Amino acid sequence: MRKKIAAANWKMNLTLPQAHQLLDEILGQNISLEKHQEVIFAVPFPYLTEMNKRTFELKNYYTAAQNCSDKKSGAYTGETSVEMLQSIHVAHVVIGHSERREYYHETNELLAQKVNMAIGAGITPIFCCGEPLSIREAEGQNEFVAKQLLESLYHLTADEIAKVVIAYEPIWAIGTGKTASSQQAQTIHAFIRENIAGKYGAEVADNISILYGGSVKAANAVDLFSQPDVDGGLVGGASLVGNEFTAIIKALPA
Ligand code: PEP
Repeated sequence: MRKKIAAANWKMNLTLPQAHQLLDEILGQNISLEKHQEVIFAVPFPYLTEMNKRTFELKNYYTAAQNCSDKKSGAYTGETSVEMLQSIHVAHVVIGHSERREYYHETNELLAQKVNMAIGAGITPIFCCGEPLSIREAEGQNEFVAKQLLESLYHLTADEIAKVVIAYEPIWAIGTGKTASSQQAQTIHAFIRENIAGKYGAEVADNISILYGGSVKAANAVDLFSQPDVDGGLVGGASLVGNEFTAIIKALPA
């Protein structure tokens, strides 16, 4: 069974005491996860070590970085390398979030380099893809997402892509309160899986987790996560509210 994942994206939110308090609220629920379930907190860089200490001992709970450099090391002020993440035992990194694509001009080609860095360091990339509203309105979402996959992931071998988690996040649904319907999510997730199958074969495609992101909350998580090709969620706003994210974790299929 492929992994079912509830991933929190804290973005640039919370002070350190607030971050601890939020983890207190969520981890305090003592939700034990099944073998195929994972909970991942993508936290701001300064908190990685402390948050990781808290999740490290818990089965299937992880702390992730929200970004990494496309370069190995050297004179790149302000950047964080995968080697640094590896050295503090961070096992996942979000790559290609739409906010990074939009505000920091990250291209599919650059993201391919970041994916390579992460895979090379044994860190799981949570690779984000998804279309803007104008593309969805023109019904071009499949082609748009297929191009993102082609240009950032399809240079990988089958063994390598098997290590990637994909997060489909329609930009028009991120932080807008507007969620793709569970049917819209299922349709494009199935398309993504078929597209991967076309390149790598059905077995590889069947085993890749494809998360949905875009205004996931307690109220819609069960419906979204029960779709056959939706393997959990990447959650922004609702991941900052203890009882909301707790309910989202509990919505993961058993
Ligand atoms: C995200 O940041 O990846 C996201 C999906 O945000 P939100 O849940 O707030 O839409």
